[in-house]
Amino acid sequence: MYPPKFGYVIPESVKEAIEFLESHDDARPLAGGHSLIPMLKLRIIRPSYLIELKTLQELKGLRKEGENYVIGALATHYEVKNAKIPLLSQTASVIADPQVRNMGTIGGSISNADPLSDYPAPLIAMDAKVIITSSKGERQVEFSQFQKDMFTTDLSQGELVKAIVVPLLQGYKTVYEKLERKAGDYAIVGVAVALKEEEGVIKDVRIGLTAVNNKAMRAKASEEILINNSLSEDLISKAAIAAIDYADPTTDIRGSAEYKKKMVKVMTEKALKSLVRQ
Ligand code: FAD
Repeated sequence: MYPPKFGYVIPESVKEAIEFLESHDDARPLAGGHSLIPMLKLRIIRPSYLIELKTLQELKGLRKEGENYVIGALATHYEVKNAKIPLLSQTASVIADPQVRNMGTIGGSISNADPLSDYPAPLIAMDAKVIITSSKGERQVEFSQFQKDMFTTDLSQGELVKAIVVPLLQGYKTVYEKLERKAGDYAIVGVAVALKEEEGVIKDVRIGLTAVNNKAMRAKASEEILINNSLSEDLISKAAIAAIDYADPTTDIRGSAEYKKKMVKVMTEKALKSLVRQ
């Protein structure tokens, strides 16, 4: 289906983009277009204007800053993959296919807040922060607060995601395990783990789950089972079982709710076991 008619605006600066968004209630920013354009074609949304972001330098770039990486909202999945950021780059490498990875952006992905998307698992595990810009200036929000519900974020009309800030995770072992029906599909279950040990004892562990709830969750009970212990088969099994409580999936074409809950255990176990081998 063709999208309904819309105006197309190419602003010269973020300021100009924000002014346009503020004065047009149903105008939408356009990044990679890999979620927005399908939604237009399906006529799920009918914005009067699309505001092109891809020309805006202020939203680009990917750099180390102190103890963090600062990732511009317009960084494509391909760029994130190539940046070798612990946990996040591995996750970007399993998003969709090369075409989508070359066009889709991290800012567009988190603003879209599809509960099946991959980035939320590592971002919640990493305690990422989202930098939001508007005519009032900049504000910083914890990723856990940024995601409100499925397809709903903390963004108001006239606000843009400027960048995402994640820690370097120095000395951590990390892994993202994605269960998918076929390569390039959305996740049935996605599990991100970052774990730091000292002399074989776990001193910090973060487990993020995606695709099994309205928004990404930290499996806190699993983390508590692991902390100050050593990774053993028994402990991994207990932690994986505890992760099930953070899943409230729906039955859909990717499987029944019951199957997905079982897969949370299986994938958490798989992720933790792979860290033993790192
Ligand atoms: P757009 O489509 O341009 O925008 C998405 C939404 O975010 C729109 O509402 C837009 O107005 C808003 N927006 C965009 N940028 C900003 C900003 N800076 N500030 C505020 N609002 C903004 N994703 C996965 O995670 N895993 C997958 O396996 C996966 N598979 C896919 C397979 C296919 C075939 C396709 C088409 C998509 C798939 N996706 C997958 C989604 C893909 O990652 C999209 O690129 C992503 O969800 C949206 O990013 P975008 O840059 O294309 O954003």
